[in-house]
Amino acid sequence: LAQLYGPLNQLGYIYRSVNQSLVDTERLLALLNEPTEVNDKDNAPDLIVTEGEIEFQDVNFSYDGRTTALNRVSFKVPKGSAVALVGESGSGKSTILRLLYRFYDLQEGEGRILIDGQDIRDVTQKSLRQAIGVVPQDPVLFNSSIAYNIGYGKFDASREEVEEAARSAQMHERILTFPEGYDTKVGERGVRLSGGEKQRVAIARTLLKNPPILLLDEATSALDTSTEKDIQKALQNLVKGRSSLSIAHRLSTIATADLILVLKDGQIIEQGSHKELLALDGVFATMWADQISSTDAVSIAGDSLKKE
Ligand code: ATP
Repeated sequence: LAQLYGPLNQLGYIYRSVNQSLVDTERLLALLNEPTEVNDKDNAPDLIVTEGEIEFQDVNFSYDGRTTALNRVSFKVPKGSAVALVGESGSGKSTILRLLYRFYDLQEGEGRILIDGQDIRDVTQKSLRQAIGVVPQDPVLFNSSIAYNIGYGKFDASREEVEEAARSAQMHERILTFPEGYDTKVGERGVRLSGGEKQRVAIARTLLKNPPILLLDEATSALDTSTEKDIQKALQNLVKGRSSLSIAHRLSTIATADLILVLKDGQIIEQGSHKELLALDGVFATMWADQISSTDAVSIAGDSLKKE
């Protein structure tokens, strides 16, 4: 079991309970499903985050040494800004997040990834992962109380802090409807939460963790309008003042991003603000038009989403 501690820690979920059920562990590992072959250099210093600026410089990456997952990818996430990744399945969106989290190290000649000017290969994994909050698409809940599940974001979080985070994540009111409030057991053997609720729990955890950098993988599943609004509000509270990289499926996220990167076959084929990309009238504009016509996005996210 000790071997599992490394991967678990790496997602920021500190594996605190030795009694944790194996079901949880399996689900977490299924979620990660990644090897952990990255080693720190001898005497590697900790990452020092000053601004939270992220930079990919000419990144090339292949999982198997044959097929290209990323091809000469360069971009910057300036301090506190929100960058959205869009593109069809297999275009490289998740790979960008995985590399930033150092599931894999780039080899010589594959480019560099910098945070505030520091190559992430040169700093400790622990300090890197402490600086990064992850909101996965399908967050894992432990078979424990909802308070425990949220408090996971910060060791020794007080009940007040947990409630404050739940409020910001738009989960507090919902939790009050549970039979035992914050002490209600959730997960497989307790109250079952919907996908949108689980994501808000992950947002609350991350608010408690309070990292300067965020990686978000939005759920692809359709959400009803009020859940969508709650999630948007929760995400707004989370991304405020932090640098974020999101795999974006929601129109609202795409429209409000500071920069959108459109990926295809591992390459950035278009980039710019929402407005700029619509004006370009290329791949993104076509994707946008398709999504607009297939959802009630305008009613969800208001006037800002209308095609300009
Ligand atoms: P999706 O929207 O479906 O999640 P994505 O845009 O996130 O797709 P990636 O998961 O980054 O795409 O995949 C980029 C490329 O790398 C694809 O060709 C994919 O098949 C390949 N790939 C992804 N993960 C692995 C892996 N663990 N081993 C080998 N190849 C992989």
